[in-house]
Amino acid sequence: MARTTRKALRLALPWCGISRGSVADSKRVFYQCHRCGNCCKWPGEVVVSDREIDAIASYLEMPVDQFVEQYTKVRANRQGLTLIEKPNNECIFLDGIDCTINPAKPDQCAGFPNTWNFPGWEKVCEATPVHLDQD
Ligand code: SF4
Ligand code: SF4
Repeated sequence: MARTTRKALRLALPWCGISRGSVADSKRVFYQCHRCGNCCKWPGEVVVSDREIDAIASYLEMPVDQFVEQYTKVRANRQGLTLIEKPNNECIFLDGIDCTINPAKPDQCAGFPNTWNFPGWEKVCEATPVHLDQD
């Protein structure tokens, strides 16, 4: 059975800053995720917008208010909601190395490390570069 884990990002990492406008953008390199699941395990926030909440709740076939109550909490900065974590800091939707909401995962998860990353991300992410055609 194919794995369903996808790259996920966890914001507010305690040991690094966030960098948007990544190397992938500037040098026409795409980083291919190898579904190690690491980015679903480290501490941080997985921010979810109203649209993403609707999509995940629909995927799980549960009412939106129930999803919000059961699987989200207010972000540390009080600006929006984040998915809750397990006691070991893994995302609540991680099962082994698989994302159980993969078809509806938040943009934050789908974007790492190409649309956003942080200094030193290569040390904790197994994605490998695919060089795109140059102009
Ligand atoms: S390869 Fe990188 S983006 Fe993919 S799951 Fe692992 S840490 Fe996440
Ligand atoms: S929603 Fe899925 S891809 Fe995103 S952090 Fe959680 S388990 Fe990982």
